[in-house]
Amino acid sequence: MNRIYLDHNATTLLLPAAQTAVIEAMGQLGNASSVHSNGRSVRLLLEEARSQVADYFTVKPSQIVFTSGATEANNMILKGFSGRIITSAIEHDSVLEANKAALRCQVDSEGRVDLNHLEELLKGSDQPTLVSIMTANNETGVIQPLADIVTIARQYGAKIHSDAVQGIGKLATNWANLKLDFISLSGHKIGALQGIGALVVNEHSPITPLLRGGGQERYYRSGTENTVGIVSLGAAIKAYTSQDWSGIERLRDQLETQLLQICPTVTIFGQKAPRLPNTSCFATPGIASNTQVMHFDLMGISVSAGSACSSGKVKISPVLQAMGVKEPTLGQSLRLSLGQSTTPQDSQKFIDTWRQLYERTQKNLKERIAS
Ligand code: PLP
Repeated sequence: MNRIYLDHNATTLLLPAAQTAVIEAMGQLGNASSVHSNGRSVRLLLEEARSQVADYFTVKPSQIVFTSGATEANNMILKGFSGRIITSAIEHDSVLEANKAALRCQVDSEGRVDLNHLEELLKGSDQPTLVSIMTANNETGVIQPLADIVTIARQYGAKIHSDAVQGIGKLATNWANLKLDFISLSGHKIGALQGIGALVVNEHSPITPLLRGGGQERYYRSGTENTVGIVSLGAAIKAYTSQDWSGIERLRDQLETQLLQICPTVTIFGQKAPRLPNTSCFATPGIASNTQVMHFDLMGISVSAGSACSSGKVKISPVLQAMGVKEPTLGQSLRLSLGQSTTPQDSQKFIDTWRQLYERTQKNLKERIAS
């Protein structure tokens, strides 16, 4: 059976350009830190990839620090900053867990950061402050008002970090205009390999290394570089960010319209806010998240409950909780994240499968009430 993959916010397939770059790099023997020719050849590959990432962000190559992924990049910033940190209640765990003492800015019922609360938190302290707010949420797809956040944070002299993992390529963000101090990204969300990511660092905002040792990555991140991963990221970023998402957005919107036609009491989270073009997070009355994920899996469709532990279990979503969603809706959410390969047929198969499950659940419920 040809499976349908609607979980692109979890990970993406390696793009052809990245695959070609990976195969080339795998044939190279050498450590980028070695001074001999073998080492220098690998160094060339690595620096080319650094320039490709830098070009996307319109920064100098020296502002890119390669890491093992966004989790490490986020930890570097959140653990390394000395001063007060303000983040939001809907960040990825790699931000929330990296610094539990951080102040949490509230979000509204659509999942957008409450700018008044942000300003309140910023007021009344002369400590150095870092504001860390994601570009777009991985569960709901809700896009954060980064330009406004930057304006407010700058008024209070704060540094600004954004976990941009889900926004890269899917949003036409002008990173140069935003002038953030730090940006985290992850390779496997944009068609590169898993286990590679990067931190973009403003030249005037020094960072503290998490890993010390051989002094690679200009002493910011010691350890022999993951050359194969790095070249995959360099190749992928250009290919991924030149894709057009408008067709996928239309498909997502049509899918949501169909859901609501079949069941008008479906809750679509963040629907009134600007969202990523590929993401839909919604709750189906009467059906637990777990049941839905398992049902779709058996029917050959990979979806996610929005919030999964590393153990693979579904947990209650802190993101939806922060948006004020209550039980039973809280436990009935499902996240679809479409990719460039998603077709209208995939979307229709999803709808048909969902309709079947929904109608069967309704029928069972009516029978139970009647008996
Ligand atoms: N931040 C966000 C918003 C994510 O969605 C993810 C992955 O799910 C991460 C960070 C972690 O990225 P990585 O897998 O590269 O560590």
